[in-house]
This record gives sequence, C-alpha cells and structure tokens, in this order.
Amino acid sequence: MKKLATLCMIMALVAITAHSALAGDTLADVKKKGVLVVGCKDSLAPFGYIDEKTRQIVGYDIDFVNAIAKKLGVKVELKPVTSATRMPQLQEGHIDIIAATMTKNAERAKVIDFSHTYFFTGQKFITKKGGVKSLKDLEGKKIGTAKGSTSEQNVKKAIPSANVLSFDDYPPAFLALQQGKVAAVTTDEAILAGILGKAPKNIRGKYEIPNVQISDEPYGLGMRKDDKNFVDFVNKTLLEMEKSGEAKKIFDKWFGPKSEAPLKRSFKITADK
Ligand code: GLU
Repeated sequence: MKKLATLCMIMALVAITAHSALAGDTLADVKKKGVLVVGCKDSLAPFGYIDEKTRQIVGYDIDFVNAIAKKLGVKVELKPVTSATRMPQLQEGHIDIIAATMTKNAERAKVIDFSHTYFFTGQKFITKKGGVKSLKDLEGKKIGTAKGSTSEQNVKKAIPSANVLSFDDYPPAFLALQQGKVAAVTTDEAILAGILGKAPKNIRGKYEIPNVQISDEPYGLGMRKDDKNFVDFVNKTLLEMEKSGEAKKIFDKWFGPKSEAPLKRSFKITADK
C-alpha cells in the first residue's frame, strides 16, 4: 500500500513538472530547440496563405513571427491550424505560439494569454452586389462563417433570426455563397477583403462588402497561460517593431495602396492597459 502511495506521488510530481515545463518555459525551450513552432492559417490572404510561386506560407501574421524568431536567433516552423484547432494545438504543446487571425477576448483569455494587439479590424459580410444595405436585409437568412470563430457568436447576437452555417474555414463558406447555399459570409473585414482580392475578376465583380459592421476585432498572438517570460519577450518585440517602423512596414506590404486588399492603418501597437 505504502509503495503504491509513493508511486502515485512520484507520478503526480512527474505530471506537475511536465505540465509546468509546457506552461512556463517556452522562451527557454524555443531557444534550446532552435525553432519557434507557429500555428498559422494557410488559406487566408493576406494573413497566412500559400504563395503560388514559392509554395511557402506567407502573410502579415507570418512576418510578425519571423521577426520574433529572428530576434530569438531561431528558425520558424509553420503548422497550419484552423479557428477551431488553434487553442487546443497550443494547449497540447504542438505549437509554441498562435499567429492566426485571432481576436483577443475575455473568454479566450481565460484559457490562453495574448500579446499586445498587432492588428485591428471589425466584422462585416460579403454579399451579392446590391443585395444588402443594413442588417435587416439578412434577417432569417443563411449566413456562412468558420467554426470556432468570434464571428459565429457575433452574427448570432447581431441577427438572432439568421441561420448560421459553420464551415471549417472561410474559403469553403465563400464557395457556398457562390453556389447560392448561403446569402452572406461573415468574418473580419480584412479577411473578407483578402478573399475577394484573391478571387478571379469575374467572380469578384459580383460580390461586395457592404458597410455594415457588427464587431471590433483586435488581433493578438496567442501563448500558453502563465508563460510570462515568453509573453514579455513577444510584447517587447512588438513594441520595438512599432517604434522602429517595422510593424508599419509589414502593414504597408500587405495592406498598402498597391495590395490586393488595401486598408487604412487605424491602430498603433501599444502596451495593453
Ligand atoms: N478574428 C476572428 C476570430 O479570432 C475571426 C477570424 C478567425 O476565425 O480566425 O475568431
């Protein structure tokens, strides 16, 4: 009996040690292994998508983690995640950081920690041209979005009578719109603009993003809870990037006037209050 109790105690200690290593020491761990494993999107231009020529995942989110890895002197390994899988992937230790169009909110902050805001957008809709002037026009309609996203909840709140269909990702939701299976697709405006920007001209011309906004979406890089050294390092790097102009340069590269989805930079990276 005594032996069993000792064994149980040892096992519990091993579990606690393993857990705290996972939760608390990502900065040291990444330096030791020489690689930062990043959970990113791989089909959402301009945040994370596969470049047709190089076949590499590129985008706004990727440039930020590249800068963080460079400062750490380590390589980057990109692992595609979806809106629904990104938090479990982080918690289970399969990735070190989430850089995947992720909105910071109180509910998620109970489970993971977020960096300072490094992008800011709001949720709107893609609809057929001329069809939607206000939320009223979407009442009782089928609306597509992605599983595990804030848009799922926001659209239900904004239009309680809507029938929300959740897809694995936004490109299949846009396909459903083209096939007439949904009346609109909703998510962050910057993502919607990226989807339309990448669509062939003949398709793009049929759709629009009406000026109907249902939420604000500040993006944060996601890290495990109580991983203070890592969170501090990432935040310090983001603030330095803002100060040096590198953050704005990355914004202009992906959202500047010559980009496929031009946007105004309505934010600056500052320390969270
Ligand atoms: N930013 C929103 C979210 O974190 C929508 C985009 C996404 O699904 O990643 O849920």
